[in-house]
Amino acid sequence: MRRSALLALLLCATFGLGGSARAITGAKAELVKLADGVYAFIGKRNDANAMVIVTTQGVVLVDTGNNPPETRILQKLVQSVTSQPVRYIVVSQNHGDHVGGIPLFSPPANVIAHERVFKEWEAWKPFQVKAWRKRFAERSVALTQVSPADTVLTFHDHMTLHLGGKTIELIYVDDRYNPGDVAVWLPDSGVLHAAFVGYITRHPDIRPDHSHGTTSGMLKQLEALIALKPKIVVPAHGPLGDVTDLQALTDYLLAARQKVRTMMSRGLPLAEIEQQFNMSEYQGWDRDSHFPWMAETVYRELNGEGPQIVQAVEQTVKATISKLAEEGRFLTVTAETGAEVRLRISTDTDFEGVADRTGLRVGMKATALYQVPQGANAALGYDVEELDVEP
Ligand SMILES: [Zn+2]
Repeated sequence: MRRSALLALLLCATFGLGGSARAITGAKAELVKLADGVYAFIGKRNDANAMVIVTTQGVVLVDTGNNPPETRILQKLVQSVTSQPVRYIVVSQNHGDHVGGIPLFSPPANVIAHERVFKEWEAWKPFQVKAWRKRFAERSVALTQVSPADTVLTFHDHMTLHLGGKTIELIYVDDRYNPGDVAVWLPDSGVLHAAFVGYITRHPDIRPDHSHGTTSGMLKQLEALIALKPKIVVPAHGPLGDVTDLQALTDYLLAARQKVRTMMSRGLPLAEIEQQFNMSEYQGWDRDSHFPWMAETVYRELNGEGPQIVQAVEQTVKATISKLAEEGRFLTVTAETGAEVRLRISTDTDFEGVADRTGLRVGMKATALYQVPQGANAALGYDVEELDVEP
């Protein structure tokens, strides 16, 4: 008895009250009321969440849903609780599954983002702008002359919106590699959208090129957000939580760093560390596929190496789609030579022949223009720039 009580205590200390035992989110996206005029859009199966703030001066959206079908669901759910138009979209993190839905609302909605995000968008390549304009068929005419950087309001470290009696604070915690992640704090209701450091029941997506920040930067953000003592935390991915989930992710990141540090002190080479590293004590969390990149990122941080600079070389393959996963996000194609290529569709992928990745089917013939990173591990597959599909 005493032993098991002690074990239970230890488990609580390790995982926090947020707990690793919690399940991932349900099979359908839902809108959950958190406070007066404040709603969480909870993505299906740990897909990206969003937050909806209804004011008498319009709706503020924080993020825009995982992919076009989910963004349309988000739009319908917003319309089910208010007739106010979406006036502002806050970018909590500049990743496709959070910002990809912006062209459904903007313009006329304005985008509020950190300066670093704007600089990224300004530097987009033509295929990215092309993909952005036609991401939503119903918007392609309205967006012919519009680029993603055309509707953006930026700020540096802190911005407060006072809209229709609601106070909405945007918080950026600076560090060299923070790519522009912004938390959204509602002091009146104690609700926090925790941006990139809000991971509940999903292993964080941290990358060696620091495009998603670093574990040390995340720890700094977590410290600032924990100090707010939020009553409700809307994570980037996963079910709703509270301040204990932020503490739990702090413990998670410290444990991950300690594991890599221990292996480094034993003299293990990076390849071996990547192979051995796991966080499988967090049972039930999804995205084990993030472990190798997480290990390499921490390794670089502890070695003081800075971000991995990756040159990508473009390649083309004419092939048949042989495998699909996650509604077309990951696909394997087989070329006529029999060679298999694993590809990853991003929000920036420009499609011809299908509206979006959900239209892909096994057996379709396709030509893919994709990027092969030189000297780096493309663990999740090669990023596709253009996918031309024959119906
Ligand atoms: Zn995400």
